Amino acid sequence: ESFADYNVSEEIKRALSVLKYRTPTEVQSKVIPLALENQDLVVKAQTGSGKTASFGIPIAEMVEWVEKKPQALILTPTRELAVQVREDITNIGRFKRIKAVAVYGKEPFKKQKDELHQKTHVVIGTPGRVMDHIERKTLALDQIKYLIIDEADEMLNRGFIDEVEAIIKALPSDRVTMVFSATMPTDVENLCHKYMKNPAHVEI
Ligand code: AMP
Repeated sequence: ESFADYNVSEEIKRALSVLKYRTPTEVQSKVIPLALENQDLVVKAQTGSGKTASFGIPIAEMVEWVEKKPQALILTPTRELAVQVREDITNIGRFKRIKAVAVYGKEPFKKQKDELHQKTHVVIGTPGRVMDHIERKTLALDQIKYLIIDEADEMLNRGFIDEVEAIIKALPSDRVTMVFSATMPTDVENLCHKYMKNPAHVEI
């Protein structure tokens, strides 16, 4: 199997070849075809499995370049992960000129506000700062069509689950939701049950 067989544009394929991603990892081969069909997904996968590109590739493919407002929101439990995910999506989307912005605490709000004010396709952030931007109306949600919750079990461990739920409630309900988690605690399962549409379950 190779990325050449996937139903993604030449711009994305060229970026994968620059990144030297030749063969999809197991999580990528299971997730990417379903995500490209707009299927809600609950994915049990560890860090190091290639999970970032498993949502990064379909997101970079599906967002429309001409739209100025954010179309995908990715929630991460830590600033380090937010920065890593922004790098990966920027690299995957480089030939499509995808603009990804990361928002997290302990960085000036104003800088992020100015970035969000420009054309932005994908926003990656930690729950507290994302909620701040929502409340201060510096993050437009009306064009969000994709929500990714990365490391959901870690969100729970860090006490972010209520903030995650508040963010979900603020989003358009006509959207695709993907949840990634290394383990599936009951609270994560409940959240999936409450806010997802017939999710397919993928386990690595
Ligand atoms: P992740 O699980 O998303 O943190 O990815 C783990 C590492 O694998 C990262 O350094 C990626 O750049 C790399 N990676 C992801 N997908 C592939 C692939 N298909 N081929 C080679 N390396 C990959």
